Amino acid sequence: VPDPAEDARVTPMMRQYLEIKAANPDCLLFYRMGDFYEMFFSDAEVASRALGITLTQRGKHLGQDIPMCGVPVHAADDYLQRLIALGHRVAVCEQTEDPAAARRRGSKAVVRRDVVRLVTPGTLTEDTLLDSRRNNYLAAAARVRGMGDDVVALAWADISTGDFAVAETQASELAAALARIEPGELLVSDSLYDDPQFRPLWRTAGWTVTPLPAASFDSISAERRLRDYFGVATLDGFGALSRAELAAAGAVVAYVDRTQMGSRPPLSPPAREPRGAVMAIDAATRANLELVATLSGERRGSLLAAVDRTLTAPGGRELARRLAAPLTDPAAISARHDAVEWLVGRSEVRRAIRETLRTAPDIARARARIAVGRAGPRDLAAIRDGIAAARSAAATLGAAGDAPAAIAAIIDRLTGPDVSLHGRLEAALVDRPPLLRRDGGFVRPGFSADLDEARALRDESRKVVAGLQAKYQEATGIRTLKVRHNNVLGYFVETTAQHMEKMSAEPLAGVFFHRQTLASQVRYSTAELADLEGRIATAAERALALEGEIFDALAAAVLAEGTALEAAAAALGELDVHAGFAELAVERDYVRPLVEASLAFEIIGGRHPVVEQALAADAAGPFVANDCDLSPPDGDDGRILLLTGPNMAGKSTFLRQNALIAILAQAGAFVPAARARIGIVDRLFSRVGAADDLARGRSTFMVEMVETAAILNQAGPRALVILDEIGRGTATFDGLSIAWATVEHLHEVNRCRALFATHFHELTALAETLPRLSNATVKVKEWKGEVIFLHEVAPGAADRSYGIQVARLAGLPAAVVARAREVLERLEETDRRAGTAGLVDDLPLFSLKPRRAAPAAAPSPPVHSVLAERLAALIPDDLTPRQALDLIYELKALA
Ligand code: ADP
Repeated sequence: VPDPAEDARVTPMMRQYLEIKAANPDCLLFYRMGDFYEMFFSDAEVASRALGITLTQRGKHLGQDIPMCGVPVHAADDYLQRLIALGHRVAVCEQTEDPAAARRRGSKAVVRRDVVRLVTPGTLTEDTLLDSRRNNYLAAAARVRGMGDDVVALAWADISTGDFAVAETQASELAAALARIEPGELLVSDSLYDDPQFRPLWRTAGWTVTPLPAASFDSISAERRLRDYFGVATLDGFGALSRAELAAAGAVVAYVDRTQMGSRPPLSPPAREPRGAVMAIDAATRANLELVATLSGERRGSLLAAVDRTLTAPGGRELARRLAAPLTDPAAISARHDAVEWLVGRSEVRRAIRETLRTAPDIARARARIAVGRAGPRDLAAIRDGIAAARSAAATLGAAGDAPAAIAAIIDRLTGPDVSLHGRLEAALVDRPPLLRRDGGFVRPGFSADLDEARALRDESRKVVAGLQAKYQEATGIRTLKVRHNNVLGYFVETTAQHMEKMSAEPLAGVFFHRQTLASQVRYSTAELADLEGRIATAAERALALEGEIFDALAAAVLAEGTALEAAAAALGELDVHAGFAELAVERDYVRPLVEASLAFEIIGGRHPVVEQALAADAAGPFVANDCDLSPPDGDDGRILLLTGPNMAGKSTFLRQNALIAILAQAGAFVPAARARIGIVDRLFSRVGAADDLARGRSTFMVEMVETAAILNQAGPRALVILDEIGRGTATFDGLSIAWATVEHLHEVNRCRALFATHFHELTALAETLPRLSNATVKVKEWKGEVIFLHEVAPGAADRSYGIQVARLAGLPAAVVARAREVLERLEETDRRAGTAGLVDDLPLFSLKPRRAAPAAAPSPPVHSVLAERLAALIPDDLTPRQALDLIYELKALA
């Protein structure tokens, strides 16, 4: 390959392009050409495919056509967003000098260009590229040698809001920690990237993983980078950060610098989150409980959507953060509950606060854009209105009196920003400024005498021009003469062609200079017009420049108020969450939970927050509230509840509602229950058996087992485990055995609070040997052969599974249902004779130290299980009549 710098066949522009591209090989290069960003070569091919825009050619490179595509600059954000969403990174290359300056350097000189910014998924600041109600984190994971390889430090920053935090986690819990943060982009060192332990995580992650050379994670240079970024002489003020945490935080700021090309978004000093400060919830559990999105990926139907009563984007972000990371410190949780309770009891205060919040702008994001020079006049206005909203909210809260500590702390931060800054912004900006700085018109008349003068000059001259038309009409006697303006000629006089002679004859000769002849029109200029034109342009330019100066001064004043603004912005978000929780509690009758250090778990009259609202919305009858008590019976360890009942009875709903109540309680919300007492849950696990559709086959069962293994290996005494139909994804005996052993292990080894739903009725026998296991069932009523779901959880075991009744409800042909009933009776008859009742006696309890010596022979297969297995695998809707008939023959043969 010839060196392009040497090759005479390469045009100077192409040479510049190739140089810049070579410096940014991992990015699509947006190369500025006039009003377009253009992409060349493979970038053009990739982008045209991704964006669905036309691929064309521009010129030749070494004899070959150059593939090219382009996007207009004014619409670039939209295209950027789509490319970023697809995981691309984009280098934005701008002209950094005036084309006239390049021409002065020589006829062949190319306009100087430079990459001004790398746009990557984790480093966005534009509103158009971001979800206003979600944080967009840039995270870094670092492992420092010599620290024990099983500790990984995480740092995560949202450069669009300034949030910045660090924490350490066990390597085995990295996935859960990242599932909580949901970074837009994760930076890892090459060695971590290639580590076999983590490779599956990177591969399945829903976020972009960016590997960087080890040097980016060096903890010594990290210290220097952090000192430099925050302008401090020492990091002592940030608390004791470990070397790994320093390395991760350093990698984040280095990457911010690299992508923002030196403009520095305001980050708060990295807040260190102590280990175990938040409830650990892994990705599978989050998905399964549909915390922020449903299994099909929608926000609607998620816990977040059901409990969100916030009114501002920062409040929405804070709520999402709290639900993603419930606390584990009872005192901190109780402080949040105090705030909610205070607002629940003061409906007038709450109403006034929410009225203020309704119009409160997003201070944090406006401030971040101001800092990186991507702000418009509306961002300054957002700061102005934000300070006003914060003051007004603080006044409302303060006037109410008796504020608990959490509210008092909010009032404090709301009143932090300097009022004089608000006064200055108020005086300087018009009420509703335009979007773009370059259009001007955002400074209030009367604020700057110079600006007023320039504007007056501009506007006066425009008026004089408008007056000239009448004057020229008079002088020429041409009534149809017009003074007009376009971008080519500027101001000109226009008459119809028939007057041409008159215009150049005495007495007008020398006044009108001919400029242009069109089909029926002739255009002229005059010395007077040219002069005015110059004055208008100069005045307009001067006005714009003055507005620019005012903008910059205001921006600097905003940045100087940085920390106080950041604190006020955060306080508004928190207030929005507290007030939203209070609103929700009043609206849906939620109560304050008692969260304590014990291992209690006692929910009286609990409801499922999402299902309850869905039923209400469909007017589908009331939600049946249910109790759940997993508290240790004897001050020992928590209890396991084994739940049986037919399909559709409400088992999954019950299981999930208890997990969701724990999350809401520890996140600081009130809960959908009559009463709730919860001993801190430090880890939450939830799994659902894979067999809802057997067609998905073995790999799904494998996933189910891998996830179950994770629980059995990790759940400690403070965990809460929710297992729904585990073991369903395989043959009956396998499944039953696995479920059996899992319950025993949870009881004997993990010793944690757990809810276990199953359709293996055989498991209920375990209650005889496991003292902390109790049976419960969801009640149904049989009425004239129909099953009626009562959704009522009661102690005891389900006596039967009502599978046939449910199958009937599902539309299985009547003949099949009738025959199945016959078969079932026969099987139950046989089963009673063969019996599984002896299973418990025959099988020694699972234990690390077996209590009984010799295991008895494996239990003989209950005959009805063969049938059950066959029926479980059956998808009635998929059966043809012929297959249904075959099935009946097959079942009959079994009997
Ligand atoms: P299962 O897990 O036993 O098959 P689900 O928990 O999926 O049953 O519940 C089936 C349906 O029954 C739910 O979609 C819901 O509409 C309704 N349901 C469940 N629990 C209740 C309840 N406590 N009160 C009212 N309706 C309920």
